[in-house]
Amino acid sequence: MTDYFRSNVDAMASYVPGEQPPRGTNIIKLNSNENPYPPSPKATAVLRNIDGEWLRRYPQPFGEEFRQATSKVLGVPSDWIIVGNGSDELLSVVIRACAEPGRKVVYPMPTYVLYRTLAEMQAADIIEINYGEDYSLPIKELFAANGSVTFIASPNSPSGHVVPKKDLQKLASKLSGILVIDEAYVDFAEENALALVKEHENVIVIRTLSKGYSLAGLRLGFGVANPKLLDGLFKVKDSYNIDAIACAVGTAAITDQDYKNACVAKIKASRAKLATDLKQLGFKIWDSQTNFLLAQPPQKNAEYLYQKLKEQGILIRYFKQPGLEDKLRITIGTDEQNQTLVEALVYLLGTGE
Ligand SMILES: *Cc1c(COP(=O)(O)O)cnc(C)c1O
Repeated sequence: MTDYFRSNVDAMASYVPGEQPPRGTNIIKLNSNENPYPPSPKATAVLRNIDGEWLRRYPQPFGEEFRQATSKVLGVPSDWIIVGNGSDELLSVVIRACAEPGRKVVYPMPTYVLYRTLAEMQAADIIEINYGEDYSLPIKELFAANGSVTFIASPNSPSGHVVPKKDLQKLASKLSGILVIDEAYVDFAEENALALVKEHENVIVIRTLSKGYSLAGLRLGFGVANPKLLDGLFKVKDSYNIDAIACAVGTAAITDQDYKNACVAKIKASRAKLATDLKQLGFKIWDSQTNFLLAQPPQKNAEYLYQKLKEQGILIRYFKQPGLEDKLRITIGTDEQNQTLVEALVYLLGTGE
């Protein structure tokens, strides 16, 4: 061990993202909740027409063009919006602004693994509270933990469930710290919590263009909160955190709601079909309001199935974590990709142990 790093950095485990094979690899990739459809043609048209002059100059520090477009789409004033280099950056900005040793970062488990990594970087005190039976929100415990930052992913990963708005509302009104509602999967859900930011100064709703808008490679996300809250966050973001390309392409994408909604409708239909097919194979499937399914194989041999599928060029996600060792997280692909997965599983369940 060297003395290069702060002791909490030495102690922390690295965040392990889903495997990202090189472009051109012939695999079915159902491990990172990417959208199986291409981004809006209007967004790719903007990309093709990027002028070198845009790249010569620094970009707008607050992603103003994208902010204006998002303001119109959501019906919130543009000064209630913060734009980030992926929503991951915004999670990090919140942590940088609010977390330090002696301050608590709180979230229900299981959830997005990055929350822990970010809190560890900051050497904050981490309080993880298990979800109740059927993923009911442990409100009392979350409130009692009284975090400087409380993270709730809704819809949650890897469970796929939406946290009821009335629970989020209760939590927001009782917490003295910030409540981060991570709506990365909101485009696939039947409800959202955006209205809470108007009623509660301590709430920020964070969204991304990575999932619903098929732009994971672009790195663009945004948060919506009271400008009083955003003031503090702006202090700790990088000055030019949104590059000129992301701002322009993202603006076209978020403006093209019809295209996004059409892709989402296809994915929801595929989600229902895949859930039915997997249930027929004996899987336990949790209701999902996302673009993935949490699935428990009939023989609970999740790691085995994950490995075998990988050998066949089908990547899904396996988390070696308490409560998840016997489950798989499967991104919804095209109907054709899902069918290939189901056929591979039919074979593996028939021959595997
Ligand atoms: C995918 C995901 C994100 C990250 O989104 P980016 O905008 O690509 O950084 C954030 N939170 C959750 C829960 C996610 O699943």
